[in-house]
Amino acid sequence: MENHDHAFTLSIDWEEFGQLLGRDHTGVVMPAVPKTIDRQTDILLSLLDETGKKATFFILGMLAKYRPDLVKKIAAEGHEIGMHGQHHIRMNTLSYKEAQADLSDSYKLVTDIIGSPIYGYRAPYFSVNETNLYVLEILSELGLVYDSSIFPVKLKNYGIADFPPEDTLYQLPNGKQIVELPLTIMNWRKKRLPVAGGGYMRAFPGFILKKIFTKLDAEKKNVMLYMHPYEFDDRWISCSTHYPPGKGYSKPKSFLINIRWNLFRGTIYNKVKYLLKEYHFITCLKKAEYVKDHSHSPAILGRSQ
Ligand SMILES: [Zn+2]
Repeated sequence: MENHDHAFTLSIDWEEFGQLLGRDHTGVVMPAVPKTIDRQTDILLSLLDETGKKATFFILGMLAKYRPDLVKKIAAEGHEIGMHGQHHIRMNTLSYKEAQADLSDSYKLVTDIIGSPIYGYRAPYFSVNETNLYVLEILSELGLVYDSSIFPVKLKNYGIADFPPEDTLYQLPNGKQIVELPLTIMNWRKKRLPVAGGGYMRAFPGFILKKIFTKLDAEKKNVMLYMHPYEFDDRWISCSTHYPPGKGYSKPKSFLINIRWNLFRGTIYNKVKYLLKEYHFITCLKKAEYVKDHSHSPAILGRSQ
């Protein structure tokens, strides 16, 4: 069997920022998804094709509903399809029943589109924390093999302090098991720092990123990169076209959002391309199966920690 003792994974939370922002701002999900998602998905698929690597796409239900053709296209290129929930609402703000409905709706929609089961999940905003670990039980009951939603460091809006940063097979209170693939952190001066997301790819100069990933690789860490389609867009993107008439943001607010979307974003493509060429990449599912096959006994995870 191929050795995946330490490997990199590129995970894409497949969503359209304009659609999300429009829904959050107006309360309405507009069926006409901006065409930017076509361009961004194509850029990503070409990059993966060119570098010969496979990625995992966590598909957002409210986008897939209107663009099943794109989900099929991603699956047809051999990438892993996972789910990103239906409505992109923080899971820790939902009741158990609401969380269950969001996850089962998302599961049904995505599996119906691709015509085969899916095995993994990423929560919006990494919103599985010590208050809602039952999400993992819901996932296991849907038949999922792994989750990749937990940030093993406490940050402002998410994360669990001291959660084990290693990929681990857990025994759950409902008697089932699940593999957790936490988001990558780096130990630096006795602190845990997140390093592998789009924001960091954008902010750190290339030479610093090279050092970070060389260090993680030398330490034989599993690296989970987490990105979004818009981060690969090769054009200026604007939030102003994504709303029902008359419902857009004010000009100053639009300006700030557009700056946040676009500043230094153009550097991300080459940084990710470098990593794809340099390191051993496998999908989340391969990683999770490897962890499962190599676990002597599962760790115990309670309902809360
Ligand atoms: Zn998301």
